[in-house]
Amino acid sequence: MTLSRQTDLAQFRADAEQWLRASVPERWKAERGALSEQDTTEVKREWDRQLFAGGFAGLSLPAEHGGQGLGLAEEVAFHELAARAHAPEGFGRIGKILTAPTLIVHGTEEQRGRFLPGILSGEQVWCQGFSEPGAGSDLAGVSTVARRDGNGYRVTGQKVWTSFADVADRSLLLARSSPDAPRYRNLSMLLLDMRQPGVVVRPIKQISGATHFAEVFFEDVWVADEDRLGDDGQGWKVAMTVLQNERGIVEGITRYVEMRGDMDLLIAHCAGTEYERAAADLDVRLELVRWQVAKSVELEDDPVAFVRASSVLKVTWSELWQEMTQLGLRVAPAEHLAHWRHQYLETRASSIYSGSSEIQRNIIAERVLGLPK
Ligand SMILES: Cc1cc2nc3c(=O)[nH]c(=O)nc-3n(C[C@H](O)[C@H](O)[C@H](O)COP(=O)(O)OP(=O)(O)OC[C@H]3O[C@@H](n4cnc5c(N)ncnc54)[C@H](O)[C@@H]3O)c2cc1C
Repeated sequence: MTLSRQTDLAQFRADAEQWLRASVPERWKAERGALSEQDTTEVKREWDRQLFAGGFAGLSLPAEHGGQGLGLAEEVAFHELAARAHAPEGFGRIGKILTAPTLIVHGTEEQRGRFLPGILSGEQVWCQGFSEPGAGSDLAGVSTVARRDGNGYRVTGQKVWTSFADVADRSLLLARSSPDAPRYRNLSMLLLDMRQPGVVVRPIKQISGATHFAEVFFEDVWVADEDRLGDDGQGWKVAMTVLQNERGIVEGITRYVEMRGDMDLLIAHCAGTEYERAAADLDVRLELVRWQVAKSVELEDDPVAFVRASSVLKVTWSELWQEMTQLGLRVAPAEHLAHWRHQYLETRASSIYSGSSEIQRNIIAERVLGLPK
């Protein structure tokens, strides 16, 4: 099914709600926390295919590139409804949110034709190979090397904290291709095939017990020139396009819905206790997150303002989520302690990924408030 550009958001929401009601797998609704890792993987893979078949993959990507040609309002509305319907989060996030828009800006016609269909249909899973042990916030310092070899590169090095690496077919990989060139002009963005000899993925167990990410090692791994995104030495520019898409309004609304459920629980725990006001304060701040999402949607056609607003949104929801779970742990009755403990541990990472709070504050200080460096 392909949706034409909708002007009626209410109708879109009604259609999406109906589709979600009929499509979220029953076993996911009933026992998502208890499913085995293998069953969870199956459900998530199938969910990516269902989204495509239902016409809900690539909602805000242009129709000429296989998307639905809708706006950010529909994208945000769908993710809000999906979170409310407890839909699974598939494995397609990096492909659809980061790789596809970057391919549209920097890719060749041939690359778009080769990769976009698999990303949208859910057949091809992507990961983002940016961070390294010595380069996270200081991304330009990556030291994974892409050495020229005939019509391509040989890649050697290590990435870390790579989400979806264990299931990914391809990686957006930022590597140093010109060791002698000046900083920011020494990098290339490669579309590396993860299913080849020389790629070793070691999942990392998080404090919450989950394994959402991995370390990835590359030993003389081949990347042909046609799998380079943008020109040789232009990797930093391409990486900036990726990061602009990452500081996520979609994540903002998804987290809002998740936090809304926990907030109602927290307010109930705090009722009649000395923490009642603290919970009310958090509740107001949570509604501010929703307001910020709505405001960001209005900025869709102003990319500079949109990216700045995204930094404010990221700091607001990630730190609020941490504070909520902290209070939850303090006030929860015994039967809810396990839930809050899990949430508390999960939220530790939220102020680090997609750009840490400190980095977001640097951006806000310099680009929003215009403060001197
Ligand atoms: C759950 C999760 C998933 C992730 N998924 C991915 C992924 O899929 N792909 C990927 O490439 N990466 C991923 N990351 C990595 C993430 O992008 C980095 O952790 C993040 O950029 C911070 O880098 P770092 O861990 O090296 O910390 P560092 O950059 O070493 O920072 C350490 C501390 O110093 C602070 N700091 C650093 N520089 C400054 C500065 N200039 N001013 C003020 N403070 C500063 C930081 O805020 C932080 O508190 C993920 C991380 C997490 C937690």
